Amino acid sequence: KGSSEVFPEYCFEFATMDTLEERAEKDTQCSDVIGLLTQMKPVETRITKRNPQPSYIREIEILMPEGDKIKITLLGKFAYFLTEDVIGSQTVLIITSMMVQRFSGLCLKSTSATRIYIDLDIPETQELLDRNSAEETLPKMGSIDRSNQGTLEEHMFYRRRTLEELTTMRHGNQSDQDFVFTVIATVDRLQEDIQWWYMSCDKCHKLATKDTDNYYCKSCGIYPEKVTPRYRVRLQISDHTSTTSCTLFDEEAARLLNTSASKLLDTQDGKSEEAPKIIQQLCGKRLIFRFKLNDNNLTFGTQNYAVKRTFVPDDRLEMLYLDNKAEEELMDDEVDTVLMKKQNMPDRKSQNNNV
Ligand SMILES: [Zn+2]
Repeated sequence: KGSSEVFPEYCFEFATMDTLEERAEKDTQCSDVIGLLTQMKPVETRITKRNPQPSYIREIEILMPEGDKIKITLLGKFAYFLTEDVIGSQTVLIITSMMVQRFSGLCLKSTSATRIYIDLDIPETQELLDRNSAEETLPKMGSIDRSNQGTLEEHMFYRRRTLEELTTMRHGNQSDQDFVFTVIATVDRLQEDIQWWYMSCDKCHKLATKDTDNYYCKSCGIYPEKVTPRYRVRLQISDHTSTTSCTLFDEEAARLLNTSASKLLDTQDGKSEEAPKIIQQLCGKRLIFRFKLNDNNLTFGTQNYAVKRTFVPDDRLEMLYLDNKAEEELMDDEVDTVLMKKQNMPDRKSQNNNV
């Protein structure tokens, strides 16, 4: 490739966002990226059932040459590769051999083959530094979102509620600020009268509406240069206590369906309003939904909840959860009263409780 004379020691193939999109969830291809460090979170310790040894992770975010930001999870020894003195000065990172995943958007994860280079003296580094002003791209220290911490199991049961509990929740009866809950529910149907996607402004990701030939973004007050179809799927869901509706947005829908809205639209032969089969196949599925309640939910009880994450339930864990809840209630003294041996009562063993 001729570049070997220029960079004898290094050979990178920096991926663009489009390339990463193509490689998402495919275990076969590793990706190298270059970018300015924009955010770094403290190192977290994770303990999972499968791996009782604590493991270390650090989440960072970089700004890639085309202007896209991407989250990177550095695992194990790589969690400690960066030290906090990078905060406050422009830092160009090259991170190689990572896997692309879809977990609230595209993100990258280090592998055992990963290498990290800081401010490596190659032209790409200089280009990034020249193109981006120092004020806008100084790395900042981020904080760990507590509701995102923990193992998959903890996520699946994070403040589990029934739909009835969720839909009757208001500002008044909750004292803490974090209105994130999980619910296990079945998808009854798609709300067919609402289109499953919308055209979004690439600047703000809000709705861009067709105005003759171009799309107009009311929020930015411009005709954006680029617009992208994004998911907005309205579902009716129910559990044994209640029914409500919820909305699945782009990142989570793409993760759940393992395809982007644009790719799915391409397969629709111009029938852009009809819900594609893979969306229709969500009906009847039992999923764990993680909701973040908004002001309308909490003030007016508006029956439309924003889905932040979905999980496929694990039957064994669900059963354990039920048992634990039942045991909690069975500890109550009232149960003693109910089960108190009634010494003077007639023999009850012949009674049958037909349901
Ligand atoms: Zn906009």
